[in-house]
Amino acid sequence: MILRKEKDPMGKAIADYWKNGKAGRLRVFSPMFDEDEIPVPHLFRTVEEMSSIEQEALRMAQGKTLDVGAGAGCHALALQGRGIDVTAIDISPLSVEVMQARGVQNARLADFFSLDTQFDTILMLMNGIGIVGTLLNMPRFFQLLDSILAPGGQVVCDSSDIQYVFEDEDGTIEFPDADGYYGELSYRMQYKNIVGNPFPWLYVDAETLSAQAEQHGYSVEVIIKGQHDDYLARIKKSDAMG
Ligand code: SAH
Repeated sequence: MILRKEKDPMGKAIADYWKNGKAGRLRVFSPMFDEDEIPVPHLFRTVEEMSSIEQEALRMAQGKTLDVGAGAGCHALALQGRGIDVTAIDISPLSVEVMQARGVQNARLADFFSLDTQFDTILMLMNGIGIVGTLLNMPRFFQLLDSILAPGGQVVCDSSDIQYVFEDEDGTIEFPDADGYYGELSYRMQYKNIVGNPFPWLYVDAETLSAQAEQHGYSVEVIIKGQHDDYLARIKKSDAMG
């Protein structure tokens, strides 16, 4: 699904920042949290400004590489500068226009779930695995990998275990919805008067991701553990079915 410009707050924020060197507040709402904000300059971060998780992810990229949900193109530009053959996709027309203006040679308006060409490395960064949305959608994610991951290919993605969010001071944990997985969130964004539609967004701990992967013939290797229950992982097809 491609976003309409009138329903694309993040794209509008990115376009404003690119044009004017500044932007208003990109507001994030979720039923589970207080109102939050994504600092728009962060979407234009340089490699030096990236976390060690992101820097390592860039080092891992090899072969024909896909940057999924590339936003303003920070990762795609870095890879392109290192001579990597990178394709950047996003469902935001405004973001794709900015990526093209910034010099991303292969920036395309496309939904990850509609892709049909193969890649050696699929990068999903800034909690990029989030676009899977819910655990229920995991089979669809791995079926897609079956068709778009080249033989020997890898997914390089980051996420975090957000259990700490539900922990009281005394250490007891109370999940809001006992039936669902606690990392399944719903977000809505707003920029100026542009209000986006709510969308599901998944934070998944490494163990749960591993269990899901195994069910579909994939394995997960944790490459780096961050300081805030975040991590960088590599997903690959399992060598042998056992
Ligand atoms: N990777 C960038 C931007 C992260 S924000 C960075 O690290 O700065 C997530 C981006 O994913 C948004 O630009 C959003 O438009 C895009 N996106 C969401 N769902 C998508 C999908 N199904 N296919 C491709 N892009 C998607």
